[in-house]
Amino acid sequence: MNHQITIQPSGHLCTANAHETVLESAINAGFNIPYGCRNGACGSCKGTVLSGEVDYGDYAAAALTDAEKAAGKALFCCARPLTDLTIECREINASIIPPRIIPARVERKEQLSHDVMVLFLKLPSSEHLQFMAGQYIEFLLKDGKRRAFSLANAPHIDNMLELHLRLIPGGQFTEYVFNEMPDKAIMRIEAPFGSFYLREDSSKPIIMVAGGTGFAPVKGMIEHMLHKDIQRPVILYWGAKTLQDLYMPVLPAAWATEYPHIQFIPVLSDAMPEDQWQGRTGLVHQAVLDDFSSQGLGNYEVYCCGAPAMVEVAHASFLNAGLAEDAFFSDAFNYAKPVVTTGAGA
Ligand SMILES: Cc1cc2nc3c(=O)[nH]c(=O)nc-3n(C[C@H](O)[C@H](O)[C@H](O)COP(=O)(O)OP(=O)(O)OC[C@H]3O[C@@H](n4cnc5c(N)ncnc54)[C@H](O)[C@@H]3O)c2cc1C
Repeated sequence: MNHQITIQPSGHLCTANAHETVLESAINAGFNIPYGCRNGACGSCKGTVLSGEVDYGDYAAAALTDAEKAAGKALFCCARPLTDLTIECREINASIIPPRIIPARVERKEQLSHDVMVLFLKLPSSEHLQFMAGQYIEFLLKDGKRRAFSLANAPHIDNMLELHLRLIPGGQFTEYVFNEMPDKAIMRIEAPFGSFYLREDSSKPIIMVAGGTGFAPVKGMIEHMLHKDIQRPVILYWGAKTLQDLYMPVLPAAWATEYPHIQFIPVLSDAMPEDQWQGRTGLVHQAVLDDFSSQGLGNYEVYCCGAPAMVEVAHASFLNAGLAEDAFFSDAFNYAKPVVTTGAGA
């Protein structure tokens, strides 16, 4: 049975077909409500059900507390309408590029550290992936599971995709990539996804906060800005445990040398004696707070990407330091739930 959804405050209308989530219906109708992981873990798609009833679906308890549920909140990536609905959520002022399934061939793999592999995927010569800098793709695995990875290249390179994969010990997909995947393997991907992309209609200076392979989408955004000659000031904080976990240090250092509007601040949380590290130490979000303790973050936009705990603490503490709620953009690298997802547009 179909249900009508009214999105407030815009008044946009969409129809949810049987089994569709609120997010899927909105995307299929061309409305751009924010989301991240699409599996009920990151909380980016949280909004309010003003009237009507939903099946809340399968989600992580930390992403939607009972108190939030009682206050009418729901995660739209997994909530399905049981009646007609009126919902309230932010809509993003950019046109959606609908995700589609395409084959991709592994062009090459480059292992850059003990646990990071850079993977280049070539699309068929007739295919070009249109996406926004910072978005992500999903691999469609043979058993129906999906795995999400951020695009590390800028959108003007639309036929060769770059991904940075951290090895998850025991992880189904990354173990395969590191240990078994042959060169020229053909994969199926669906893309583009996500609302973590560069807002080009703003002129605010940018703070980018990356943890580990959270550097990937940030790299895509900065390379896009350079390609388009967008000269908004950027301060990039890249947090890692040890020196070898900063798996691509030369590139951001070169940006900072070459472009006066880009600063690069690497931060190590567990520097080893052999690192002989003279730079910043501690947690990466704390380095930002330390640097902006007197002026606050009110004039800035923050793009933050990496482990869910880092993104969560950065969000809370940056708002406390004066950052506007609508100036924080993030992707939390939640891991895939052990279930098959159907996914928007799939
Ligand atoms: C929007 C989005 C973008 C992402 N982009 C990237 C990216 O660019 N680079 C990247 O390296 N990762 C990224 N991730 C994370 C990546 O998708 C997951 O780590 C994925 O689950 C790894 O697949 P796997 O099959 O190897 O491990 P799985 O088989 O999924 O995991 C096996 C077990 O390992 C644990 N685990 C898995 N991932 C993690 C983790 N990240 N942290 C802690 N424990 C974990 C869990 O217990 C899990 O059950 C992204 C995630 C999302 C949601």
